[in-house]
Amino acid sequence: LAPILLHFLYSTATPYTTLPSVLLLGPPGAGKTALTTLFERGPLDLPLAKTHTSQVPSSIELSINSDDPSSASYKTNLDEAGATAKKFLLVDTPGHPKLRASSLARLNSAEPTIKSSLVSDGGAKSKIKAVVFMVDAAALADGDALPSTAEYLYDVLLTLQKRFHSRNGSRAPASMPVLVAANKLDLFTALPAALVKSNLEAELGRIRAARSKGLLDSGVGQDDLAAGEEGDWLGGDGSEKFSFAQMMEFDVDVDVIGGNVTGDGPGAEKWWKWIGERV
Ligand code: GDP
Repeated sequence: LAPILLHFLYSTATPYTTLPSVLLLGPPGAGKTALTTLFERGPLDLPLAKTHTSQVPSSIELSINSDDPSSASYKTNLDEAGATAKKFLLVDTPGHPKLRASSLARLNSAEPTIKSSLVSDGGAKSKIKAVVFMVDAAALADGDALPSTAEYLYDVLLTLQKRFHSRNGSRAPASMPVLVAANKLDLFTALPAALVKSNLEAELGRIRAARSKGLLDSGVGQDDLAAGEEGDWLGGDGSEKFSFAQMMEFDVDVDVIGGNVTGDGPGAEKWWKWIGERV
């Protein structure tokens, strides 16, 4: 009996392999659920899953060709291709503004982790390797969605920037790549990725100016602001204009890449490759 019992104990107590995760953020309606479904099932001929309105993030397990992530496609069946698979979790977070704080809180540590909601790994803690911030490039075109989208992105980037200063001793926190996925490029009204980038940068700059003015009005002195570390000033000091490149100083590397989940367009391959190279 003992060997059987031991075997049983061993097989149930095998430590879960904790996969790295990629955190999927963005305003409601950007296409996060659609993307998750696409990556999980391959090209979408089936109806899309309903936007997930739950209050907890949902993770799916994905595999990417680890022999050559750059040639990887989410459409490839890795088992058939005989490739070595690298597994990771894509964690779709609720986009509702009231629930954002909990998404941001996850990024607010030197070694950000997220508790996986997968039953199969027992809710193990997974290391966050990258952030995908999805935006609706068609909604951004008419300007209405720009302020709220940029507010959310500002908070994400500022959290990552502050995290840089929360270094433990001399060890800097791991760098955090951020992909701004400009979605819905199948729609002819959508802004191309380059314009999504410049519009977001301009709006982030406006928010930065408004927030620092708010701080000045509230009695925080110029010196405190210049000290920078605790302030809400996003990006490098002394720059008039905000650009994503300023985030490099804090090891936050931002890329803006266009694509689409449904319809005809550049598709989602570039996003998949970006993720594959970072997990
Ligand atoms: P979420 O709130 O970010 O999870 O957004 P959803 O995934 O629920 O998508 C919101 C809406 O946008 C749905 O009606 C999707 O079908 C639609 N959608 C998602 N991706 C695309 C896309 O690439 N192109 C178009 N035209 N619509 C999309």
